Amino acid sequence: MASENNVLKMLLSRVYKAMDLLNIKPGYKKYLCEPRKTIEVAVTVKMDNGDIDIFKGYRVQHNTNRGPAKGGIRYHPDVDIDEIKALAMIMTWKCALVNIPFGGAKGGVKVDPEKLSIRELENLTRRYTSELIPNIGPEKDIPAPDMGTNAQVMAWILDTFSIDRGYIVPGVVTGKPIALGGSQGREDATSRGCVYTILSALKVLNIDTTDLDVIIQGFGNVGSNCAKILYDLGFKVIAISDVNGGIYNKKGLDINKLLEHMSKKKTIVGFKECDSIEGSKIFELDCDILIPAALENQITIENAPKIKARIVAEGANAPTTPDADEILLDKKVFLIPDILCNAGGVTVSYFEWVQGNDAYFWSKRRVNLQLRDIMEKAFYEVYNCHKEKNIDMRTAANLIGIGRVAEAVTLRGIYP
Ligand code: GLU
Repeated sequence: MASENNVLKMLLSRVYKAMDLLNIKPGYKKYLCEPRKTIEVAVTVKMDNGDIDIFKGYRVQHNTNRGPAKGGIRYHPDVDIDEIKALAMIMTWKCALVNIPFGGAKGGVKVDPEKLSIRELENLTRRYTSELIPNIGPEKDIPAPDMGTNAQVMAWILDTFSIDRGYIVPGVVTGKPIALGGSQGREDATSRGCVYTILSALKVLNIDTTDLDVIIQGFGNVGSNCAKILYDLGFKVIAISDVNGGIYNKKGLDINKLLEHMSKKKTIVGFKECDSIEGSKIFELDCDILIPAALENQITIENAPKIKARIVAEGANAPTTPDADEILLDKKVFLIPDILCNAGGVTVSYFEWVQGNDAYFWSKRRVNLQLRDIMEKAFYEVYNCHKEKNIDMRTAANLIGIGRVAEAVTLRGIYP
């Protein structure tokens, strides 16, 4: 990753801004920015053709002052250590912001999962897990799905860890299949949470929810579920992009038909009943709500001036660069920052962990109601802080999240 686009550097500039406002002492600032543990492993895999291949794997536990480290595992060809460090830190602030008793972590393997057979994917996952066994566990560090991983990958992690222990340990991962102790509502929790924050934003902005146009970048777990939930609520999803390109229909896309197309073709491209458009062009279209739900650094100094949305809801982690933040602020775009907007996933991961610990499982209705409570509470805390202190929404969210972690660190003190 080019250094000017280094997601960790950009994140640190924002974190320092919030820490300055919180009057955190210099030593504690350093402590809060440094990951507690950084693990790099060689993931050795026997490929289907008999060759041995080695992939770089990481797990970063950023902070564990408020609870066990928590965060997803990403399989993507662009994974690098600075990205994983940044994403682990984002998890720490995110868990603190929605006030669930977890620290932050992230893992990743530098691999294109699309290029592996199912068997190779399983081998890779089991080998990566076995390298991490001493460092993960229900009280230590709890992985979950992220880009390129899913419930099946979590099932393999659970199995590998459980075989090592000699008994099933469901709490070692979240986002696992329901048949193995997963939670109702986990699959679309990130998107549901994202939609709850959008509905709250529309309320505080006094925008009527009828006839609103939505644009979504990314059609993976977060993007596709956001599209489906918003479509069912009567919003018009007019444009979507994925890695292969974009589609556009001013009258609104039929999301049920698009999901059918997607399940057959594995891409949105080629969908009928719409125009095709360059993926990067969707940001420039007229709309009310823009949801970046793909990778980091997508809204930049180049495309931010062209954005016409009234609300940007960050379904992805760190999709906006700090320069682009300034431009969106100038344009009076209402931003729902990542650690607030996409916290629904880890919130239902927390519910899953609680249900597993109690060996008592909740209905989907209960999961979704409690998710809504947490998301709305967090939204209003951030919104009120933004209004009262006259700071932007991102800084307000960081102030609350980082402030809670700083308080925990101060109370615990530095050992020895
Ligand atoms: N990968 C998701 C995130 O970035 C979920 C993490 C989790 O559930 O632990 O928030």
